Amino acid sequence: MVKKEIHIIGAGCAGLSLAKYLSIDSKTNTYKINFYGRKSNAFATPNYWSFWGDQVNLFVEQSIKKKWYEWEIISEESVVTHKTKNSPYCTINSREWLALCGFEKLVISPNIPEPGPLVFDSRNPRASSGGLTQEFVGQTIEVKKPLFNPKSVTLMDFRCDQRQGPHFIYILPFSSTSALIESTRISEFLCPSKYYKEAIKKYLTERLKCIEYRIIAEEYGKIPMGHVVKHDSNYLGIGSNGNCLRKSSGYAFNSIQHQTQQIAAQISAGQTITRQRQIPFAFSRLETILDSIFLMALKRQPHKAPEFFIKISKRLTGDEFASFMSGKTRLNILLKIICALPKIPFLKAGFQTIQAKLYHGTDID
Ligand SMILES: Cc1cc2nc3c(=O)[nH]c(=O)nc-3n(C[C@H](O)[C@H](O)[C@H](O)COP(=O)(O)OP(=O)(O)OC[C@H]3O[C@@H](n4cnc5c(N)ncnc54)[C@H](O)[C@@H]3O)c2cc1C
Repeated sequence: MVKKEIHIIGAGCAGLSLAKYLSIDSKTNTYKINFYGRKSNAFATPNYWSFWGDQVNLFVEQSIKKKWYEWEIISEESVVTHKTKNSPYCTINSREWLALCGFEKLVISPNIPEPGPLVFDSRNPRASSGGLTQEFVGQTIEVKKPLFNPKSVTLMDFRCDQRQGPHFIYILPFSSTSALIESTRISEFLCPSKYYKEAIKKYLTERLKCIEYRIIAEEYGKIPMGHVVKHDSNYLGIGSNGNCLRKSSGYAFNSIQHQTQQIAAQISAGQTITRQRQIPFAFSRLETILDSIFLMALKRQPHKAPEFFIKISKRLTGDEFASFMSGKTRLNILLKIICALPKIPFLKAGFQTIQAKLYHGTDID
């Protein structure tokens, strides 16, 4: 039997997930999958990819390293605690995920094929000029005495230096003595990694009163927020190159899974994919517009970031917050968010977003 050839450029989260879903779908091994470009760095330096896992498939479920049913958002003035029964915050190890996809010994050709049907491009998109970037350094640390609450994730703790733009500490506690702790900034300009490492150290020593700790691993990330430019507009973009990056948060794992699973189903149903329009879009139009306005407001008033995030989280339940973060914002959640946000700055940001679209062609999706 002649196998159907599928070409995937880039072997990272989206490329390998698509290959995996195609191989699950194809009980009779009907596809020949060819990889091009480069292997993801996440093979060599594992990252933790986290997401809200209310409706994950069995394959993702098997890869989850830990689930949490509680998370906190903290500012100098407030602490918001969310609890959930249905939408736990989950994390997986990127290297374990890529290995589970089953293509660890994959052969990759450096010669990129011509664009065409069934040629999928997962090379990373570019940030649009003047856009915000989420930059972070994470350290997996171990301590001797119990320090962390293993049942609760600190999603954002803004009690750290805010002079270089919105900045928060994120803590993913694997146990009471081990956690991933990240220092994250949202800004138009980047900072040296020393800045983030010092912020983590300061948080540990001054906030958590922890002097002795061992750094087991380190990760660095730079994720464009807002509008991104496709790596090459001639190709069928998938993953972060196919609009899977959530503009306002930088989360992408969940939407990549939904998108690649659907593409695999389309192919196995005999569809020929020739246009970007046929690639499932991860977020609703309303979510995308809200995200654009939110980012514009952050850009205009970066010092108000803690207030904006606290106001949104106070208004939502844990499940609603998880839906919003996962790109499943229903109208009632959207209305709650709009009501939670301060009207004048957001009206101004909305006006400026429309102006940018009309006069400068800056896309809002
Ligand atoms: C450190 C870090 C932590 C993250 N944590 C989370 C998280 O917790 N939750 C979440 O939802 N998202 C997270 N993300 C965002 C997102 O989920 C990941 O970036 C994810 O890897 C995106 O998948 P992708 O396939 O689109 O891109 P990638 O996994 O980056 O794959 C792109 C592939 O294209 C190749 N490539 C790129 N450029 C070229 C080129 N010019 N020529 C040839 N090949 C090329 C790369 O080598 C790679 O193989 C994180 C990102 C980073 C960097």
